[in-house]
Amino acid sequence: MLAGGQPDEERLPSATRGIYRRMYTVAQLIGGVWGAGGEGGDLVVHDPADGTAVSSVPVATAEEVRKAVAAARGAAAEWARTPLAERAAALHRAADAVAAAAVELAQATTVEMGKPLADARGGVDAGVGTLRQYAELAPLRGGRTLHGSAEAIDFMLPQPRGVVAAFTPWNDPVAVSCGLLGAALVTGNVVLYKPSERTPATGWLLAKAVDAALPPGVLSLLTGGPEVGAALAAQPVDVLAHVGSTATGRAIAAAAARTGAKVLLENGGSDPLVIDADVDPLWAAEQAAIGAFANAGQICVAVERIYVHRDVAEDFVDALIERARALRTGPGVDPATELGPLVDRQHRDHVHGQVTAAVAQGAQLRIGGTLPDGPGAFYPATVVTDCRQDMPLIREETFAPVAPVVVVDSFSEALRCAADSPYGLAATVLTASMSHAQRACRDLPVGTVKINAVFGGAPGGAAHPRRGSGQGFGYGPELLDEFTATKVVHLQAPGGGHW
Ligand code: NAD
Repeated sequence: MLAGGQPDEERLPSATRGIYRRMYTVAQLIGGVWGAGGEGGDLVVHDPADGTAVSSVPVATAEEVRKAVAAARGAAAEWARTPLAERAAALHRAADAVAAAAVELAQATTVEMGKPLADARGGVDAGVGTLRQYAELAPLRGGRTLHGSAEAIDFMLPQPRGVVAAFTPWNDPVAVSCGLLGAALVTGNVVLYKPSERTPATGWLLAKAVDAALPPGVLSLLTGGPEVGAALAAQPVDVLAHVGSTATGRAIAAAAARTGAKVLLENGGSDPLVIDADVDPLWAAEQAAIGAFANAGQICVAVERIYVHRDVAEDFVDALIERARALRTGPGVDPATELGPLVDRQHRDHVHGQVTAAVAQGAQLRIGGTLPDGPGAFYPATVVTDCRQDMPLIREETFAPVAPVVVVDSFSEALRCAADSPYGLAATVLTASMSHAQRACRDLPVGTVKINAVFGGAPGGAAHPRRGSGQGFGYGPELLDEFTATKVVHLQAPGGGHW
């Protein structure tokens, strides 16, 4: 890396050279018209690696939001009547278009939110896969038939819900958006897409690719900050689907309580990692480092707090510190980078406040925990020991490369602490004991339990997040059900028994 946070252009793959100097000019899509709106001024997104401006984005006014919802409502009936096979074919075309734009989408993601380019590309590829899965799965799903009288036919008919507003986060913008958009569109809903204000150019490029495969008006794109999201959530739509922070999820749920919209929430987490007394502490440190430091800790299911048995704690912490020290930090466009910046300085200040508060309360900083000089929003991989359950660093979501460690004296104590959280997204347990693994699967109040691997898992997995982590299925085949309403039909011949 060159001084000042700029990547060494010679080391970049040819496709990425020059992207630092590119500025995206984002347009909205309202009522099937690109470039509609624009009365609300613009916001500018800065590259978190060096602070340069990368995207200029229109901020939708309340009136533009209202018009977009009315136009979407107008397009809903025809899209709902479009045969499912045609909607699925459109989704396959959308997947082709997203795949064709993969390099550009990955670059936009990296310069807008900072993650290493290879990770960003992985998110785009995952999004393409999700679009194809929904295109294949949707036509195969049907309703049950029922056992009524011999003269009647009874069945259950899944139907589109109508108008879906989809609010998405910045941390894996393409993969998450493709899930919500793909499932909502293929089931016959029209979609108003509100990407994160941190990754609007990524959202715009994705919307352009998907829209090209659809009839005009089926997809709309509204851009801007939280106030645009709030204006959209207040509109009379049928579903508010939100992947993002718990605070926003609660605001969206409150808006839905006023309008009667169905709410789907996939929100924040503070995932525990439990390390049992019988595992290799070096392997446990490898797992912890992947879980806590990948994507600079900005993953919904990142390891946010570690409960390690006293028997292996010292060796584990030493090995984790070494892993933190070895990470190569730099801008995401540099292929050598393992740890990119945080999304912005505001988030970095928040994270640093959590770390310094823990230290003031008696925690020990073992590596990291200092604000680096220079441009951008870099934060070092950080290991904090002597943490206690009541510290905000343990209780709140950090969303940063910070690994807080609590030493426990038994597996039971670790499970008790792991369960004691306002969140319930996922948890990982490293153990060689089958009975301990079974207890963890049964007792942890979370949507996903992972035994002996922080990431991974079979494709298509979908879980109900608990507590502050949300409600409903945000992923997997079950997401198709979330976007449909089931009607029961009883069909009987008229009076004389003949049609
Ligand atoms: P965020 O909730 O702040 O933003 C997400 C979207 O909601 C953006 O489009 C934003 O403009 C919009 N928004 C903000 N305030 C709104 C309001 N009052 N009404 C309606 N919309 C509003 O989330 P973020 O900071 O972009 O993303 C990070 C968070 O997302 C983390 O907490 C992370 O854990 C979570 N996340 C969860 C999952 C999951 O599957 N559970 C996946 C990825 C990220």
